[in-house]
Amino acid sequence: MPYVGRFAPSPTGALHAGSLVAALASWLDARAAGGRWLVRIEDIDPPRCPGGAAERILQQLAACQLLPDAPPLWQSSRSARYQQVLDACVARGLAYPCACTRRDIDAALAARGLVHERHVERPYPGTCRAGLGGRAPRAWRFHTEKYQSNQPQTLASQALTAMIFLSSQGVRWHDRRLGWQAQDVAAQVGDFVLRRADGLWSYQLAVVVDDADQGITHIVRGEDLADNTPRQLLLQAALGLATPRYLHAPLVRASDGEKLSKQHGAPAIDETRPLAVLADAARALALPPPPAGATVGQALALWVRAWADIYNRTP
Ligand code: GLU
Repeated sequence: MPYVGRFAPSPTGALHAGSLVAALASWLDARAAGGRWLVRIEDIDPPRCPGGAAERILQQLAACQLLPDAPPLWQSSRSARYQQVLDACVARGLAYPCACTRRDIDAALAARGLVHERHVERPYPGTCRAGLGGRAPRAWRFHTEKYQSNQPQTLASQALTAMIFLSSQGVRWHDRRLGWQAQDVAAQVGDFVLRRADGLWSYQLAVVVDDADQGITHIVRGEDLADNTPRQLLLQAALGLATPRYLHAPLVRASDGEKLSKQHGAPAIDETRPLAVLADAARALALPPPPAGATVGQALALWVRAWADIYNRTP
């Protein structure tokens, strides 16, 4: 199967050291496999995307010679397609409207003796599955439990090559770097949101639809997204979409151990020194330093070979 990879930044700011690692890792994986590499601008949350950030990211990638093989896809242009997919889920009983506020969800969890801890997923208790009880709909949710529990022990051969197993106990999947992973989505996450109460599309829906429509076969992204993968695998299976292979790359941590992120004020990479910023990203990926006097192109070629030695020996 021809390889198609992608880098899918949310343009909430310029590229920083952490997002460059994800960009470089996905580019190296595509080049090492002789495949195509695409860029998708995930601008589905306009209030969080300052004007000009996406253009700056594209310019930073170009300065680092990470050039996509096709013009970027912009999620802000894809609303009609996401609506079509949501409508199809509703028609099949896989999505339902939800009237709960965060406070309602916390109260329902507390009634079951579960206290919501900060930074921990609030599993949706399923309050609106049976109907809204006259309340106004806010968000749309995926009926995780219904889908997860209706699955046979394993899926068809397509899923087996992607190394995923769905069962009533949840999702087991294989990451090319992290190895076998498991999550009981119904119990740990619950029915997740497809369209948010503010009318915006959820990351889960948009990413699954776009990866499929762009024919993505291999996803390489930061490890902070690994626990989103089972939700995406469930959605792909429910929608009858092909399952890509996944590789979650190491995160760059700030000195306080936190993940580097724009929200935590990570500075933009200085793309006027492309070799230096790429060398930092390569080090985070355990790749060798560029030889003295190497050009950006020579360093990238060296890293493609080193990457292939580490990750491309097994499919
Ligand atoms: N847009 C997401 C981010 O910037 C990444 C999505 C993905 O790679 O699946 O964190």
